[in-house]
Amino acid sequence: MSDWQSTTCMRCAVGCGHRQRPTADGDSLGEVTGDPSHPATGGAKCQRGVSETLAPDGKRITDPLIRRGGTLQPTDWETALGLVTSRFIEALGNNNGNIAVLGSGQQTNEAAYALGKLARGGFGTPYYDSNTTLCMASAVSAYFQSFGSDAPPPTYDDIPKADTHLIWGANPATAHPVVYRWITDSVDDDGQLIVVDPVETATADDADTHVRPDPGTDLALARAVLAAVIDAGDVDTEFIESQTTGYEELVDSLPTLDTAAETAGVDTDTIETIANGLTDDTLLYWGMGVNQSIQGTATARALIDLCLVTGNMGPGSGPFSLTGQANSMGNRVCSSKGTWPGHRAFDDETARKAVAEAWDVPLSRLPETTGPGFVGIVDAIARGESEVCWTVATNPAAGMPDAGQVTDVLEEVFLVAQDAFYSETVACADVVLPAATWGETEGTATNMERRVSRVRQAVDPPGAARQDLDIIAAIGNRVETGLFAETPLDPGRVFDELTALTAGTTADLSGISYDRLTEELAVRWPAPAADSHGGYRYHGGGDRWQFETESGRARFSAATHSGVPEPLDAAYPLVLTTGRCAGVYNTGIRNRADDDTVPDARIHPETVGNCLDAFDRSRTVIESRRDSVTVTVAADDSVPPGMVWVPIHNPAANKLTLPAVDPESDEPNLKQCAVTVRAPPRSTDDDGSKTAAASTPVLNGNGGLVDR
Ligand code: SF4
Repeated sequence: MSDWQSTTCMRCAVGCGHRQRPTADGDSLGEVTGDPSHPATGGAKCQRGVSETLAPDGKRITDPLIRRGGTLQPTDWETALGLVTSRFIEALGNNNGNIAVLGSGQQTNEAAYALGKLARGGFGTPYYDSNTTLCMASAVSAYFQSFGSDAPPPTYDDIPKADTHLIWGANPATAHPVVYRWITDSVDDDGQLIVVDPVETATADDADTHVRPDPGTDLALARAVLAAVIDAGDVDTEFIESQTTGYEELVDSLPTLDTAAETAGVDTDTIETIANGLTDDTLLYWGMGVNQSIQGTATARALIDLCLVTGNMGPGSGPFSLTGQANSMGNRVCSSKGTWPGHRAFDDETARKAVAEAWDVPLSRLPETTGPGFVGIVDAIARGESEVCWTVATNPAAGMPDAGQVTDVLEEVFLVAQDAFYSETVACADVVLPAATWGETEGTATNMERRVSRVRQAVDPPGAARQDLDIIAAIGNRVETGLFAETPLDPGRVFDELTALTAGTTADLSGISYDRLTEELAVRWPAPAADSHGGYRYHGGGDRWQFETESGRARFSAATHSGVPEPLDAAYPLVLTTGRCAGVYNTGIRNRADDDTVPDARIHPETVGNCLDAFDRSRTVIESRRDSVTVTVAADDSVPPGMVWVPIHNPAANKLTLPAVDPESDEPNLKQCAVTVRAPPRSTDDDGSKTAAASTPVLNGNGGLVDR
């Protein structure tokens, strides 16, 4: 294994093509760099992607662990798998819903497909979802509702062609550095950058126009811009009349510009500046600032409406959600969580029969519903509807809203945690299954522009760790004989099984094979043939459009701003929001040192001045209706007055956040809730509750939580 290998960065959904090779002794990855021959990224890379692949700081799990006498202790695979499968079989004897399975956008396509096959076809459980619901589900719902199918229409090829780059509720300078480089190159080349974000992020700092709506009012602002566009007559009448439905209903539903502007807290001149930007070829990007809301789907649809109404569909323009996790897109195509493989409708009888036949399982075993989503599944566990839970490459004890309550639930249920690194979720587990990570795994991933590429193994995983795919198949074959081949599985055969199931669907991968990926490195879907390369979606060239709705036309929406789910009041007068830091991702388990857990909050100096009694030596306690957390505060005018900002990567952050979800997408309202600040206790004796700094949980080396 001494030669360079082409692989894909698994840190974020930009999906940079990397090259990797092991150290001389072959024990670990020695070098990782950008791959100049990669068709999507041409050698581009960022420091985070390289360093987190090469030398993650997180503590690896190298042996199966079983909880004995209250602590996790090493065991062998046979013992661990025996315990896991006996509990799974016992639970299945009671009711299919008795196994809850929580997957991840960080799995390969092959592992995600296998997990979905086992959850839906082996267990028959409705309680299966992936953590992509926590970040991208609202964009997915919006695409399905507007276009009849998932995934953004544009590709990376459109970025240099755009004149206006409108970034809404996203911070790609920090989250997607390589895509952001392309955006700024385009802006430097006579383009303009408009950023919508209450916070002055690194992206907003570069903007020609920075628009700062009140938190939770993005839908009101989007509809104000729609009103401004229509008032100015800057609509593409021909496109609207020939390619869309629902325009009159949209117009009838719009508030006046003044009313919507007041709701969003943005002046009408600024709204007209956004509207004017849309008269040039515009790419409209958005992220979790839009999606993580009780109106995330409605807001994403309003952003799509802005593209449709202005005819910003086609080269250099269109709605482009910025996917976070490396294989969120792949999860949506293959993992059977919201649709069957290939985006087949979950309730379509023909699709269900095809899936049951391909998996050789009884049709009656497939669950009737997609289930209640990530937050709803944990609620179901809390109600006792699932007696076992299996997490794969996900950390719900830190990543979910109201994380303290989630932790309590995970501590109660029989929990199997499969992961490469210790995490807050692993600390709750009864059985821990050690998994391989990047550089140790074979498979594929799909980036945010629908490009599938290989993920390659250069070194063996440490200790007894195994690849996710083999762990899933080993469990599957003990529960349901014949669901998978004998382990170790050939990931290429699993990929072929997946792609065959997508043939003829709207997410057709059947023209992609491992051989083709070895030759071409990355191929965009839809790819129904061995020489097809998916391009701009829904566009057949010239004036021909074919949206995947019944009418073949895109659909406008008409939802109105409903208010935030947790308004501020006298008891909780400040608004909490969360955001990203450079060089870190997700719940940060690959980066975190053991004791690095007191969040660094940002509060505007004016707000600090108004609450001086709440601070003690730069610390304060942030309190929401759910929990409270001690933080270190930096007075920082990048956040507006009245706001408290905390990093999403800190496991304490989500103890404060609100578990309300968007009813369309099940995505939680993570970006806005009401909080207050109060003085921290002087010592642990002053406050016995878990609100004190002394009770902020941190990981110990054995995966247990200790107090500090
Ligand atoms: S931009 Fe994302 S995919 Fe590219 S190197 Fe950085 S972390 Fe990896």
